[in-house]
Amino acid sequence: MNLKEMKYLVILAGPSGVGKSHNGDLLMKRHPDRFVFSVSDTTRPLRPHEVEGENYCRITTEQFLANAEQGLYIESEEVYPGIWYGTRRDKLEAIWDFGRTPLLDIDLYGANKLRGIFGELAIAIAMIPPSIETLEDWLRKRKTETEEAIKRRIAKAPQEIEAAKLWPHVIVSERSQKPIQEILEIITPVLKLPF
Ligand code: 5GP
Repeated sequence: MNLKEMKYLVILAGPSGVGKSHNGDLLMKRHPDRFVFSVSDTTRPLRPHEVEGENYCRITTEQFLANAEQGLYIESEEVYPGIWYGTRRDKLEAIWDFGRTPLLDIDLYGANKLRGIFGELAIAIAMIPPSIETLEDWLRKRKTETEEAIKRRIAKAPQEIEAAKLWPHVIVSERSQKPIQEILEIITPVLKLPF
């Protein structure tokens, strides 16, 4: 089996606000012919700048639970109370069938499930903030969340950061080119990407 036929996936995981989607965008711009973003289903309303089908597919909780019951999700999590997120198996398969590598932006618990399923084919990178205070500052400056949603995200972060420390690849996020450089250093040799 050649490299392109192997079902690799790249996972950027870590607490909300840490910079996964920004760095994921940079990665896709750098290698537009290689990565396709894995669009998750979510039950949360989309943010004003988010595009249905590109950032997330927004569905009702009823539909989400029915999909989960049918086994459509390879992993799904109630990331915040009453708010579900899930990665659809058929979407990953479609990306592989297209000869591309899925790029996932998911939480650490969902990512751990995929690490268990895919083993070394899951190139999983944990992104953690320099501190909780910095994460809170970034979330506030993003101006996409209500105060309640910010508090929910910050409350979850310490346990996520502790879990991340056990991962083989951990990147301390910062607002510079360093995180994307580190991501490229991890994935380039495995996926044999052009420099
Ligand atoms: P947000 O609402 O800020 O977009 O996402 C909240 C958290 O859910 C983030 O950590 C994000 O990476 C994670 N997330 C997004 N999609 C999925 C998914 O399909 N599965 C899991 N487990 N987490 C997800």
